[in-house]
Amino acid sequence: MAKGTLYVVSAPSGAGKTSLVKAMLEQDSEIVVSVSHTTRDMRPGEVDGVDYNFVSMDQFNQMIEDADFLEFAEVFTNKYGTSQRWVETQLAQGKDVILEIDWQGAQQIRRLMPDCLSIFILPPSRDVLEQRLKGRGTDSDEVIGLRMSEAASEMSHYPEYDYLVINDNFDTALKELHGIFLSQRMKIDRQKDHYHDLLVSLLS
Ligand code: 5GP
Repeated sequence: MAKGTLYVVSAPSGAGKTSLVKAMLEQDSEIVVSVSHTTRDMRPGEVDGVDYNFVSMDQFNQMIEDADFLEFAEVFTNKYGTSQRWVETQLAQGKDVILEIDWQGAQQIRRLMPDCLSIFILPPSRDVLEQRLKGRGTDSDEVIGLRMSEAASEMSHYPEYDYLVINDNFDTALKELHGIFLSQRMKIDRQKDHYHDLLVSLLS
């Protein structure tokens, strides 16, 4: 079976990355998203094992020692990491795997897995970004202020990525994002494996 493709998706907090990825997963059963481990507190509405695997700092450090992470990074004083075993299993099963991670994690993944494709999602303006962070109603003003000041430095990393999607109109951004996955899947090497029997019979 052809291996799936590994995608890294990054964005400043509030750009709509998680909503876009969720909507895409609902449309396409060949894509899965990695559930990261984090030491940050659970936000209202989040579910352990669904949004993140919420772990203590001790558990996280033990996972680092056990080499369980494909990559990990510190973001806003909390730690986040991607399970290596889960990602490798999914890729081997032919799934396209999304890592929703920050630019630091993206740099580690590019070094480890140069065949990965990376996508950066940006908001249409700073004002819209701020409104979206406020509208979410889950973070305090202090956290929103911190995230807005972090956003500029985070966004400065967009040129390191293969693709750029601007999330102004949600449906347009969703089509653009999904288009990246679909075109990659149509590449000859992947189609040759996927349609092996058909291709043999057509040419016989
Ligand atoms: P949040 O706490 O708002 O869910 O995420 C904060 C930041 O951490 C986001 O930029 C998100 O993409 C990033 N992040 C989430 N999981 C991981 C991970 O496993 N590794 C890395 N490097 N960053 C992550």
